[in-house]
Amino acid sequence: MTSQEGGSSSASMNPEQKYCMCGKRARMNTSWTYNNPGRRFFTCARPKEATGCHFFEWVDDDFSGRAMAVITHLNHRRLYLEEKLKLVEENLSENDEKRKILQCQVEELTEGRIVMQAENQMLKKQMYFCVCVVVAMVALVLMLK
Ligand SMILES: [Zn+2]
Repeated sequence: MTSQEGGSSSASMNPEQKYCMCGKRARMNTSWTYNNPGRRFFTCARPKEATGCHFFEWVDDDFSGRAMAVITHLNHRRLYLEEKLKLVEENLSENDEKRKILQCQVEELTEGRIVMQAENQMLKKQMYFCVCVVVAMVALVLMLK
């Protein structure tokens, strides 16, 4: 016996197609409510708010107590992991924003460094000019003596 055949449900893995009161092929969904976790059901494919009917029929029989406990446990585990995944994703996007801000700051600092280098170059030129003027004046004074 394989594990698939081991289920207590009388419904096969692929139940026969049902038709709702609109005459359309009914949509098969899986319930995740507290009382019926993992239990499949047929419902109208069209949304009720629009033109859909209120067709509803269970596919799976009620699960046994043990199966129900396992499914409920797994469902809680899934909700916990989904919550955790959401936190990790939020953290990731937060880090991404921080990285973008840091990148902007690096770009600003690089620009600032280039401006400072240019100013430094200009100041050096001015200093050389001043030294030249002083040397020329000293030479002039010495020549006039
Ligand atoms: Zn319908």
